[in-house]
Amino acid sequence: MTIDVATRRTAQAEAASKPVPEIAKVGVVGAGQMGNGIAHVCALAGLAVTLTDVRAEAIEKAMATMRGNMDRQIKRNLIKPEDKDAALARIATATDLTALGDCDFVVEAATENEEVKRSIYKALCPHLKPSAMVASNTSSISITRLGASTDRPEKFIGMHFMNPVPVMKLVELIRGIATDEPTFQAVHALALKLGKITAVSEDFPAFIVNRILVPMINEAVYTLYEGVGSVTAIDTAMRLGANHPMGPLELADFIGLDTCLAIMNVLYDGLSDSKYRPCPLLVKYVEAGWLGRKAGKGFYDYSVDPPRPTR
Ligand code: NAD
Repeated sequence: MTIDVATRRTAQAEAASKPVPEIAKVGVVGAGQMGNGIAHVCALAGLAVTLTDVRAEAIEKAMATMRGNMDRQIKRNLIKPEDKDAALARIATATDLTALGDCDFVVEAATENEEVKRSIYKALCPHLKPSAMVASNTSSISITRLGASTDRPEKFIGMHFMNPVPVMKLVELIRGIATDEPTFQAVHALALKLGKITAVSEDFPAFIVNRILVPMINEAVYTLYEGVGSVTAIDTAMRLGANHPMGPLELADFIGLDTCLAIMNVLYDGLSDSKYRPCPLLVKYVEAGWLGRKAGKGFYDYSVDPPRPTR
């Protein structure tokens, strides 16, 4: 047993006697693809939610997406119409972080950019209750480093939902070096309340899922870049040849190419290994603003049905 493991076990034993903080009111910062999904599952689980974004139009789009996704759940008999009405009534919205002052827990799901996230914590923390816990939904950035930029690193944790949140079962939980055990237990209990299954990852670049998944996507972009196969050939090959439910380029569009590139850069910088260098073609698509589904265009053009490959 290493000293680190021994120290953690002692801390866990001590913390076991401490009460686990209760989470009744959740704040969500960032109302994009992930923020709307997180607000959706929290509200359906009976929690009061305040959803914020700097862009009012992102909040409007998120509310419309939630309504549509809940309608789909009603059609599939997963929820009742009255569950939808009750859940939507539990969601308040704001463009100002001061609205999160009474939250027990805030999960930040803003753009995958460390400076953006740090500036959010700087603006957010002075308005929070001293007991409030904060999580980042980051796909790749160090939880220890993000936590250190807050006034409460011991109450800071990585809570990494998968996309689309209402459908995907997994939540990765990542402790920063300072994260205390009551925070871990409270956020673990929240994940279970949301009907999720957790996997615990150590705080290394991109954690578990994206450490494995995003280099595979990057390799698919290299396969396209080098002319080994077309968009259709690559996605068909991986769907039918590896039994993946989506081809890697389709999946890249679904995640967002800016997010994929940001994750590759975190892996490249954080692990200093050239095998993680982002494919120049991925960089070019991001520079063009072809960010995938959310932008209407990426490796596929979504203005036509069925979507047409862009190469
Ligand atoms: P997105 O681009 O759909 O949404 C990001 C939102 O953050 C936008 O609405 C933007 O207006 C908002 N934002 C930007 N700056 C802000 C600020 N200062 N204050 C408040 N809001 C701000 O991105 P997304 O796909 O929802 O990703 C959000 C986070 O979730 C990222 O950290 C990403 O890595 C992570 N994540 C993404 C996926 C995925 O598949 N897309 C999966 C898991 C985790």
